[in-house]
Amino acid sequence: MTIRTHYCGELRPTDVGSQVTVCGWVDTRRVHSEHLAFIDLRDHTGIIQCVVDEKLDLRSEYVVAISGTVRTRFKGKSNEKLDTGEIEIGDCDVQVLSVAEPPPFPMHERTEVDENIRLRHRYVDLRKPRMQKNLRTRAKVNSSIRASMEKQGFIEIETPMLIASTPEGARDFVVPSRLHPTNFYALPQSPQIFKQLCMVGGLDRYYQIARCLRDEDLRADRQFEFMQLDMEASFVSQEDIINFVTEAVKDATETVSGSRPSDIPRMTWLEAMERYGSDKPDVRFGMELIDMTGIFEGTEANVFKVSCVKGILYKGGSDVLARNAIDALTEKCQNWGAKGLAWFRVGEGGGLEGALTKFMSEEEISEVQNCLSAESGDMVLMIADERKVVNHVLGLLRLEIGRPPVHSGELEFLWITEFPLFGDVGENGQPIPAHHPFTMPLEEDLEKLDSAEGDEYLAIRSQAYDLVLNGWELGSGSVRIHSPEIQSQIFAILGIEKDEAQEKFGFLLDAFRYGAPPHAGFAFGIDRLTAILSGEENIREVIAFPKTQSGSDPLTNAPTLLDAGHLEELGLRLTPPST
Ligand code: ASP
Repeated sequence: MTIRTHYCGELRPTDVGSQVTVCGWVDTRRVHSEHLAFIDLRDHTGIIQCVVDEKLDLRSEYVVAISGTVRTRFKGKSNEKLDTGEIEIGDCDVQVLSVAEPPPFPMHERTEVDENIRLRHRYVDLRKPRMQKNLRTRAKVNSSIRASMEKQGFIEIETPMLIASTPEGARDFVVPSRLHPTNFYALPQSPQIFKQLCMVGGLDRYYQIARCLRDEDLRADRQFEFMQLDMEASFVSQEDIINFVTEAVKDATETVSGSRPSDIPRMTWLEAMERYGSDKPDVRFGMELIDMTGIFEGTEANVFKVSCVKGILYKGGSDVLARNAIDALTEKCQNWGAKGLAWFRVGEGGGLEGALTKFMSEEEISEVQNCLSAESGDMVLMIADERKVVNHVLGLLRLEIGRPPVHSGELEFLWITEFPLFGDVGENGQPIPAHHPFTMPLEEDLEKLDSAEGDEYLAIRSQAYDLVLNGWELGSGSVRIHSPEIQSQIFAILGIEKDEAQEKFGFLLDAFRYGAPPHAGFAFGIDRLTAILSGEENIREVIAFPKTQSGSDPLTNAPTLLDAGHLEELGLRLTPPST
């Protein structure tokens, strides 16, 4: 068997004169005559030109080993686009290791290939420099996170895949049990409960690069299965966790990009919602939400006789947004939940122009313009409604108009703290947890738990925090409740009866009776971090074998039918899908 002496892309003019053997795939070949052909040979490090002076039947993607002598290319024949462009391998002896059918799609990056075809032949797609680079970036992220966690005293612990349900709020993937017919395992939405049990078990600082599975609709930043850096630590505060995670994220970013991010700023959830209308604000651009409610106290304009009015400034927007574009934005705002979109152009003379001005006082018009510092050519876009609707819709509108691609510009990490404990209040008046039911309320809001009713629950803050990067939620975490009394109180508020709590989380509650240390943790998505660090919009580009948007795998055809025998063994009978 041929032994490789060098990688293709590593050879340099200093190697001239060396006898080498390189191995890889035939990228291109150019036959000049019976006795002269050029082969560009590719491996993951790059391409080297090999000159062959015999007639060979070689095609693209054949796997070959080529031995020869490194020499300088003839004058004027250098290729500046290649790192190996000044040299070539001459006097080549070529050994074909595998023949190959023509590739199912062009191998050059300039050709856009349908994703289904790429994934159907992922093994060929993976040979492309883009995928090689992305997966190697991913490996660097993983290994630097491991090193960072270990340097900070964390140990890697593996938790099981076949478990009972975890309370992350998504749908579980389930696995039928052959030995216990009619029973199912759930695949972990996260290792949440196990990592908390590790803390009760005195392991002190746990981490894992964990696979999490959630049966949710797929998006550019979401797959059924994804990898998280999952961590938990005992006898620590929120501050400690933020510092541990910051260090890991900075280490990973520095390893990949070569420069260390500066300190990560923080913002409370409330501030994020008020300024950006989002709990994962993209702070790479301004267009902040400006509160104008005060301007419209006692207004005559019916549209503004509401509890909240806010606006954003679209600099130079008047030239960009034609009437039909404004109509399209208005429709979007309505779909997002607003009654409409109030808009004004700032005319040549510098004054607000728009259909609504005739209902507004001179003072209102000039105050709107002043508070946004709107100038000629700008556009003012406003939403008037309940505060929650205003923030939500204006936040989305801001992204729609101003958001750059997720990977462009600076990396803007941001910590969001003091998340509300409850995300919503159900029709039965019962609140719904914003994170998971083990999240500790903020000390100073603990008392409110006793007296709150209905929407008052929404004002109770928690010790939960998120890390955001360029408008993507990278991860979440919280200080956990370790007191059985507070946990029972939260379950009662959530309407989880004692029996139900015991049935669902009994093992955790039981564990807490045997001496639970105060603990806190966090988890962040490695796919998302890697995508942004790799300059990709879609996490599928940094996953070796992802699912398509519709959740299937064109390579293995998963998901597939089970044959009758297998179903029987599992005690399952299929009913026709309901329509
Ligand atoms: N288990 C949580 C999640 O996956 C993270 C945490 O609270 O540590 O989002």
